[in-house]
Amino acid sequence: MSATLTRPKLTAADRCDRCGAAAQARAVLRTGGELLFCGHHAREYKSKLQEQEADLQHD
Ligand SMILES: [Zn+2]
Repeated sequence: MSATLTRPKLTAADRCDRCGAAAQARAVLRTGGELLFCGHHAREYKSKLQEQEADLQHD
């Protein structure tokens, strides 16, 4: 089963979980949780997220 959930687009109200800047990317974890990142932190965490097989989505 590979249900692809349609997630709402990021809006100006969505903030990076690390620094509070406007979120530009969403990381969906294998556990089902998700994290929001600004452009800076999306790059910083990209390799870590890939190690965890998280799905990094840019809106
Ligand atoms: Zn950030």
